[in-house]
Amino acid sequence: MEFLDMILGIDPNFIVIGLIAIFFSLEQVSQSPVNFKKRIHHLFHNLLFQVILVGLNVFFVTFQVFSIEWLNEHHIGLLYLIELPFWIKLFISVALYDITAYWIHRGTHVIPLLWRFHRVHHSDTSMDASTVFRFHPFELILVFGMGNILTAALFGTDVLSMAVYYLFLYVFFFFEHANLTYPKWLNSSIGLIFVMPDHHRVHHQQDQYYTDSNYADIFIVWDRVFGTFKIMPAQKNKYGLTEFDEDKKQTFLFLIKSPFLNIKRITIDGKKKNKPE
Ligand SMILES: [Zn+2]
Ligand SMILES: [Zn+2]
Repeated sequence: MEFLDMILGIDPNFIVIGLIAIFFSLEQVSQSPVNFKKRIHHLFHNLLFQVILVGLNVFFVTFQVFSIEWLNEHHIGLLYLIELPFWIKLFISVALYDITAYWIHRGTHVIPLLWRFHRVHHSDTSMDASTVFRFHPFELILVFGMGNILTAALFGTDVLSMAVYYLFLYVFFFFEHANLTYPKWLNSSIGLIFVMPDHHRVHHQQDQYYTDSNYADIFIVWDRVFGTFKIMPAQKNKYGLTEFDEDKKQTFLFLIKSPFLNIKRITIDGKKKNKPE
């Protein structure tokens, strides 16, 4: 409990800065699976998303915390119907935030208005640790932020479990997006339960057959249970979205206004020819 208090007592922004420093440095010194050019330029444009988010979060996190505390004070949600030990309730709550995010993420792929915002994350043609920051702030605040309030309203999860969820979420995000070579045995061991980099790389493919799969952030079991789990041959790797391929469409300014532009989705129908072997 004391350890948990100590970790949660750290300003979340420092945790994010620490994680990007660790993963970005590892990417520079180790053998990366994919070679990208202009890494600092890429980092700069992705970092600008985080700067905007930190500014907006000053207001929005307060709103989120206030809403969830209000729901908890009124004992709203299914977890109030049963008495559970602290750690079990914490684990279940983290899983509930994650499963809600899974369904919302699926929604962002099928609802055209939400895809306009979510495609900013998918637009990155050079996926690395900084891709973690490349989310349109409207998506994180309105879609996923409201999703956390919805989770609390349905299940009675609290602010503490949300903080633990975010801590794990960011660690997993950096782990999944980093351009690092990981041992393959991860996939057949902890990868049966948790999201591994090889799983999330499938989700970032230009081929929509693969883009519309592996939606989970922490627990890959959601994809396995709900039939959206896919694997692919590593040599077919091509990140991004065809309609965002040009360099001028990879800048912060273009991406931040892109949800309001009519950009037609160019789908590669690889369904038949690219089935996993
Ligand atoms: Zn997605
Ligand atoms: Zn991603």
